Amino acid sequence: MLWIRRDLVDAMVEHARRDHPDEACGVIAGPMGTDRPERFVEMVNAERSPTFYRFDSAEQLKVWREMDAADEEPVVIYHSHTATEAYPSRTDISYASEPGAHYVLLSTRDPESDELRSYRIADGEVTEEPVEVVEHYMFSHTGADDIPDSP
Ligand SMILES: [Zn+2]
Repeated sequence: MLWIRRDLVDAMVEHARRDHPDEACGVIAGPMGTDRPERFVEMVNAERSPTFYRFDSAEQLKVWREMDAADEEPVVIYHSHTATEAYPSRTDISYASEPGAHYVLLSTRDPESDELRSYRIADGEVTEEPVEVVEHYMFSHTGADDIPDSP
């Protein structure tokens, strides 16, 4: 399950629409161990291709170093498909190297409707997971601490 704030979803969709018909990509960093995406990092598709994406290696190194320095991890790794469905391609699967990340795929093939799905990719296996879009994380899960005491 991916819990994600609506403004971050909007930012991914906006980026994907802007780069259409090329694929767009980036990450959303979050504090280590929280599984909570917070810091949106738009990245360059080094391929500038409508059918493929690859992070620019120098940019990737920089972004990953910044996350390390801030005690963050890549909670979400996103990219768009511009002519096909939001499902990881064989290339996407072979390049997926963060088994702890949520791989978010967006499709911009339909100009009218947004398609966004999330997957875990580990050892070449793809598992789709539900996406819960929330306004604020403070209300986004139902741990006992979050239920207000009755008056
Ligand atoms: Zn792809």
